[in-house]
Amino acid sequence: MTRSTPLLALNWKMNKTPSEARAWAADLASALVPGRAELAVLAPAIDLPALAEGLPAGVAYGGQDVSQHEAGAYTGEISTAMLRDLGATYVIVGHSERREYHSETDAVVAAKARQAQAGGLTPIVCVGERLDVRERGEHVNFTLDQLRASTDGVGENLIVAYEPVWAIGTGRTATADDAEEMAAAIRRALAGLYTADAAGFRILYGGSVKPDNIASICARPNVNGALVGGASLKVADVLGMNDAL
Ligand code: PEP
Repeated sequence: MTRSTPLLALNWKMNKTPSEARAWAADLASALVPGRAELAVLAPAIDLPALAEGLPAGVAYGGQDVSQHEAGAYTGEISTAMLRDLGATYVIVGHSERREYHSETDAVVAAKARQAQAGGLTPIVCVGERLDVRERGEHVNFTLDQLRASTDGVGENLIVAYEPVWAIGTGRTATADDAEEMAAAIRRALAGLYTADAAGFRILYGGSVKPDNIASICARPNVNGALVGGASLKVADVLGMNDAL
């Protein structure tokens, strides 16, 4: 994989039973023509065995959340070791739905990312502003503050997903210029936080990405792929996005 390989990260959210996941993986396997992108399916943890068995070679998979703790008395939680044991390589941390509905703070997000890395997973750290913040023109400062706090003590093996909250699941997509403005700002911030070459970081855009808008957004120089929710559920849409990249 070269640095420029875009990542198409598919966030199923709380959708698909294991049987549905198995059927989806079989459909993908029968139709996927490897494109320029790397694919990763971020699924409910209970679906991962079906993906491990059924996904075509080269398609990665992972979780949508992970515990900040290594193991122990944390009822209902899923650990990094559990995800790794099923062959997962990625995990989303700090999705805005986790931040909003489960009160996850930046400190918790950073702890989850550190735990994921310690156990061998690559965290996809989500950041992004709400609509009122953007309307006040404070979106860049807000998102960079969130990024710094959410990566506190986190190593450089991470992916950052810029997901403006107002664009998630709303059908309202940021413009390619909006995505590029923030991705470039995030890259500059990463350059200050890490010693690694900032050009090597993968920065994704997420928010109502579909087959007909992914190409223009991901063509921008600082956008290295997309984190996709709604359009990840149908294989036809995934194939369309893969072809467009
Ligand atoms: C997401 O869940 O990360 C997301 C971007 O959702 P959607 O593509 O549906 O806006």
